Amino acid sequence: MRGGVPPTPAVSTGLSLTIHGARGSMAVAGARYRRFGGNTTCFHVPIAAREHLVIDAGTGLRGVERALGAGPHRFTFLLTHYHWDHIQGLPLFAPLHDPDSDITFIGPPTDEGGVGDVLRGVIRPPWFPVDLASVGATTTYADIETSMRFGPIDVRSVPLHHPQGSTGFRLRGPRRAVVIATDHEHGDPASDAGLARVARGADVLVHDGQYTAPEYEARGGWGHSTPEGAVDAALAARVTRLVLTSHDPDHGDDDVEAMVAAARVRFPLTAAAHEGMTIAL
Ligand SMILES: [Zn+2]
Repeated sequence: MRGGVPPTPAVSTGLSLTIHGARGSMAVAGARYRRFGGNTTCFHVPIAAREHLVIDAGTGLRGVERALGAGPHRFTFLLTHYHWDHIQGLPLFAPLHDPDSDITFIGPPTDEGGVGDVLRGVIRPPWFPVDLASVGATTTYADIETSMRFGPIDVRSVPLHHPQGSTGFRLRGPRRAVVIATDHEHGDPASDAGLARVARGADVLVHDGQYTAPEYEARGGWGHSTPEGAVDAALAARVTRLVLTSHDPDHGDDDVEAMVAAARVRFPLTAAAHEGMTIAL
């Protein structure tokens, strides 16, 4: 059975989350990556006509842009953290340069300042020709809160274990709860307990499963989990389905399939995130 089977059937008339990027660390391209995709992390929930919730802005943000109908659009970006693979889609996101767009960025505070300070620090010359402070869109910046609401979606946030920190989100829609825990290294008792608390009973847990167990031996402390760690998290939170994400750039489709198969030994309802996967909310 293919690892990328959608974990829940999409309902065309209902609210759903679409995965546009499931690759960790850096974008990749080529025949080896056809099934799961090569773009870095990005999740999109259209919450109303012309209104969008976007979790992380990796290169998968191109997929959000392609899915947009006629504007103007309003976006809320929830950023888990600021590593390149989670923000690299932003500079060339066309609505950022559209004076009719309205964009709110919500992210964790850092030692370098809040989300606005961090993004303005890198979306400017010489890294990009346009300064974020002078783009066309109306932009607003805010810190992540523990509990937030966007249209019909309730969001809870939880700190995860990752270099410089990362954030997990539980999205509760009218029908289902989905937890996103991309970029999380399993094994830190406090953050594992926090994630289990927030993810308790969710329908779907989208969880970091970047490294095989042998790879993890050499990469402990790099901020990513194994499928085994993801299964531990799914069992601790008693979720219904597990979706592995943050696929390693060195892992082709067959490698990802093998990791799903390994996870299914202890957690049969495991799949791997792929571009275009939809999860009902
Ligand atoms: Zn990261």
